[in-house]
Amino acid sequence: MAIHSKDFRTLRLDGVQRDFGAFNALKGISLTIARGEFVALLGPSGCGKSTALNCVAGLLPLTGGTISLDDRRIDTLSPEDRGFGMVFQNYALFPHMSVARNVGFGLAMRNEPRARIAEKVAEALRLVRLEGQADKLPGQLSGGQQQRVAIARAIVVAPPLVMMDEPLSNLDAKLRLEMRAEIRRIHAHLGSATIYVTHDQDEALSLADRIVVMRQGEVRQVGTPEELYTRPATVDVAEFMGFRNMLPATLDGAGGGARARVTVDGAACEGTPVGPLAPGAVTLAIRPEDLRPQDDGPLAARVDQVEYRGRAFFGIATTPAGTALHFRAPSRVEPGTALRFGADPDRILIYGGAA
Ligand code: ATP
Repeated sequence: MAIHSKDFRTLRLDGVQRDFGAFNALKGISLTIARGEFVALLGPSGCGKSTALNCVAGLLPLTGGTISLDDRRIDTLSPEDRGFGMVFQNYALFPHMSVARNVGFGLAMRNEPRARIAEKVAEALRLVRLEGQADKLPGQLSGGQQQRVAIARAIVVAPPLVMMDEPLSNLDAKLRLEMRAEIRRIHAHLGSATIYVTHDQDEALSLADRIVVMRQGEVRQVGTPEELYTRPATVDVAEFMGFRNMLPATLDGAGGGARARVTVDGAACEGTPVGPLAPGAVTLAIRPEDLRPQDDGPLAARVDQVEYRGRAFFGIATTPAGTALHFRAPSRVEPGTALRFGADPDRILIYGGAA
């Protein structure tokens, strides 16, 4: 007996709003998710990720907007009637129930026959690779195993949509990596859609087909991991995606082409415009790993601090104008040294407006 997800084409959020008193936690979010897609909601703490997930699950009523599965409006349905699978950060297992009873709980609530429940539970436990643990209590399992139980419980009801809210935050780094691969494998097996909430960009980049970057209750950008990593649409998304160097600069001449020339800290530099640019104040965005010491680099700065991070050294240097530069160096550079820094123009993004 395979676990089958229900057939649907798309889940659609249209102008979804959620207020808490006078506070707008979600300011009209619109998003379409196709069956089979793995979508990550990514954003800093408090941006509304969990609120969005809870609205889709039916745990929070909407203040405005609609949620539909194909042509059927579902935001008025109870969580049970939506029948989505939820996995939480803290596992939320019943401590006094065996693994099998935890996993079968939703099916028992639906009064399914016992033999059928046993069959489905065994299948879900096989899928999360927990065969042989069915009679244990959650407390007798490791954190990773408990999270697998929580995943089995979410998928055993064959939900059209599986939602995960920071499911790996309580696990150590090694286990997190293992579980990422597991979650992707389970998602592919189910063929349903997964919405995955995280504030960890590595997790979102490695897991998702599409990433939804949120900030202050709004969707700031939706794109593939590659699009978001290489070409964030706005300065705030770039900052969140790891472009730590945000340098004030001036655009020299027109900014219409694939490359543009700017002046930064009095030096000429070439970069890649993101969107149309008007002459005047612009902002350069550069990842620390792309900014390297270069003899003929445009930026002069004095090294403040350096730390060794395995394959390379990362450090901070300050320009004469007082701008901090986060850089990467292939070999040790001593604090106090005056150096020049530069980056490949493809890796220097130019945004309109002041930093
Ligand atoms: P985190 O990564 O820290 O979990 P998040 O992006 O998931 O953050 P939410 O939990 O969705 O953020 O919260 C969004 C905003 O709504 C926050 O500012 C939060 O303080 C507020 N908020 C959430 N739940 C409530 C509530 N029940 N009452 C009042 N404000 C709330």
